[in-house]
Amino acid sequence: MKSFENFGGTKLPEKKSFPEKKTIFERVEKSLKIFMAMGIVVLGADSIFESRLVKGYTPDHYIKYCGIENELQQKDLKLKLIELEKHFSPQFLSNLESLIEKINHNSREITSTPKIEGFENVGLGNEEMATLWNENNYPAGTINGKIGKIGYQNISKKNTKEYHMGGMKAAEVAPAENDIKFLGLKNKEHSSKKDFVGTLDWYFSHELGHINDWVHGNEFKPEERVDFILEVTSAFDKPDSFRDRMGYINSINNPNPHLEKYCKVVEYWAVLCECYLTFPDLAAISFSPEERNLIEKWFLGKNGQKFNPKDALAKRGELVEKICAK
Ligand SMILES: [Zn+2]
Repeated sequence: MKSFENFGGTKLPEKKSFPEKKTIFERVEKSLKIFMAMGIVVLGADSIFESRLVKGYTPDHYIKYCGIENELQQKDLKLKLIELEKHFSPQFLSNLESLIEKINHNSREITSTPKIEGFENVGLGNEEMATLWNENNYPAGTINGKIGKIGYQNISKKNTKEYHMGGMKAAEVAPAENDIKFLGLKNKEHSSKKDFVGTLDWYFSHELGHINDWVHGNEFKPEERVDFILEVTSAFDKPDSFRDRMGYINSINNPNPHLEKYCKVVEYWAVLCECYLTFPDLAAISFSPEERNLIEKWFLGKNGQKFNPKDALAKRGELVEKICAK
């Protein structure tokens, strides 16, 4: 297990760069250590490779799927698609198309705000959780019309098999679905109710990254999804790219190098969103300009540019206190 003082190849800044008063979300690291001891830390999005494969699918099929007729644009897109195949195998494109179709289909059922259910199982009000998980406290355009349901289920589910990490999942976004599911986290495993709710919100920020990735984000055209994943992959490949403090991304492994890389890039994106939302001070001093740009372009998009992560974090901290005061 990696030390909390290290994350990937990036040097942790001097402690004094952090504000004196710790936020609820920094305090809950203690709870996370308990989870890690129990093996419940994986926040997976299931693999793109699980969906159907189409034999003989080529970049030209995807170009046709995008409906691009201009020859220059076709050439440009083809180069990008060939690059994608190099990173993630030729199967990748046919899977991407089938997942986009599934997302488009599922998105038709999504109402403007997510349904929140099941938190009564852990002594919390679903309506109270709705005061926390909405676009007053998260970037506009990342929740409404994007998430069908945020649910808690008292079940244990094994970690995404492609990750080869063992352990249980704490939360997930299922393949090409628009629901966030919390799985089997219990209040009693935390030192306080505040730590528990703080941890749920922390994990929510990670899953929100998955909901807004190149597969699950339901506002992107097929060709935009290609740019999105290529830009995230390019940032991931830089020698000093951001890594989570728990060593989660780097510990993913799979005998298939294409699959391992894809799983790592998926989690890298979710971790960038999570850190930006829940540890904005750390993000401010650790993200490269390229990583900051990824968040602005692909996560905040045109609707979320006014979002201030530090103000939102403070507001969520107050709401967590309020929820737990009852
Ligand atoms: Zn994840």
